[in-house]
Amino acid sequence: MLTDYHNGIFAFDAGYVRPLLVSIHVIESDGRVAFVDTANFEVMPQALAALEARNLGPEAVDYVILTHVHLDHAGGASIMMKAFPNAKLVVHPRGARHMIDPTRLMAGVEAVYGQEQARQMYGTLLPIAADRIIEAHDNTVLKLGSRELLCIDSPGHARHHIAIVDRQTGGIFTGDTFGISYREMDVEGQPLIFPSTSPTQFDPDEMRGSILRIVGFNPEAVYLTHFSRLARPLELSQDLLERVDRYVAIALAARESKDITGKIRDDLADLLLDAAHQHGCLMSDEEILEIWRTDLDLNAQGLAFWLATLESA
Ligand SMILES: [Zn+2]
Repeated sequence: MLTDYHNGIFAFDAGYVRPLLVSIHVIESDGRVAFVDTANFEVMPQALAALEARNLGPEAVDYVILTHVHLDHAGGASIMMKAFPNAKLVVHPRGARHMIDPTRLMAGVEAVYGQEQARQMYGTLLPIAADRIIEAHDNTVLKLGSRELLCIDSPGHARHHIAIVDRQTGGIFTGDTFGISYREMDVEGQPLIFPSTSPTQFDPDEMRGSILRIVGFNPEAVYLTHFSRLARPLELSQDLLERVDRYVAIALAARESKDITGKIRDDLADLLLDAAHQHGCLMSDEEILEIWRTDLDLNAQGLAFWLATLESA
């Protein structure tokens, strides 16, 4: 099912792991199409259905844009590139080599999850020909039909992260740099938003800088991969910046703990539940913690990793 935002921007749920976790955005202009992010290798049926719903075929796709090369975003890239003959892959210069030769990326994931589970989640990433890749340096402009898409460097969550400014609507596709906001947590249409600090490149100063740069465009909306369109980005940026500070304080306070990651995770869970109660969320604590389980794990691991880099510096 394709959500139509009535501005040439569409979204569908990739269905990756669970419903409402990963959204893929589709930008259309004069019959030409860009996909923003790709989930994993299971993406193709929905991607083709999205094109079909717009009366378009695989040849209409000009770009497959990756906000960054974490595999819930980039895992479907090679299979999409195979299916879309005219498409160029757009990726941060730091991510390009991992798409040309995915061996290291895959090995990293296998180190975390084990080979069997990694293959189950991501299949086999195929190499993408270098001449089909556009390295999106800061301020790279992509022409899509009559639309212009401006790629900006947006580190903080990862150093291989870009955000994409749609010049036509003023909306910005923010990947994970502008946090995560699950629709199940909405109260009367108001979202709750948290930073994403998954390992291993979280940097609080860069994240604050990227958030400020994004709102500096005065965007009409932001489109998060987890999960889709949010209005009033300026208001949300206040919550987000405050929570980046809270995350940092939680990490620093865990320095002396025996189990640093465990302590950070517990405190992040408390922060989440406090914020959810204050927001008026009616779900049980168990339900909330279940929705955020993987994020709590990853955010705690990423903060612990950042803490370790501080101490070795
Ligand atoms: Zn990520």
